[in-house]
Amino acid sequence: MVCSQDRLESLDGIALVLDSRLTVVAGGWGNWARFWHDNGGAAPAPAVLGRDLTAAFSCGALRSGFRAALMAVALGERPALRMGFRCDGPGVRRDMRLTVARCGAGRLLYHSVTLAETALPRALDVAPVSCCAVCGALDPADPGALDWVEGPSGRPPLPASDTLCPRCALGLAAHAA
Ligand SMILES: [Zn+2]
Repeated sequence: MVCSQDRLESLDGIALVLDSRLTVVAGGWGNWARFWHDNGGAAPAPAVLGRDLTAAFSCGALRSGFRAALMAVALGERPALRMGFRCDGPGVRRDMRLTVARCGAGRLLYHSVTLAETALPRALDVAPVSCCAVCGALDPADPGALDWVEGPSGRPPLPASDTLCPRCALGLAAHAA
């Protein structure tokens, strides 16, 4: 598989090429900017070129679990990583699918597409809560959440609130094993 710039721009969704240390070395920047804008982000979209993709994760458990799963693919210990995850935007629940596979020269193609979008009531009156970055479940450490459950108003669009629930931590660990 060749990850030319033309191919990256032609792929649906977010397409990034990572080197063997998970540094972003190329991407389909047209869709990257559109996705950022659709998520309510202020222009321009953050530049990730030359950065470690996982460095943006605020949650240490998420960062380390995801890194281990990606490195297992980079090192050839697993053929690919395929997983569903949530990436809700303002007023919208978004179910995503991520595929990460090697694309030659020790590099990885990181490709996420949107499977479904569902309108959500906007969470204007609730404080930001910690949610699992993979499945969107609420962190039971938050007031009002008794267990890891689906949030009533969707995941707030705040990357800083990301965390990782036990079920998804086990899933990532399985991908890294
Ligand atoms: Zn989860």
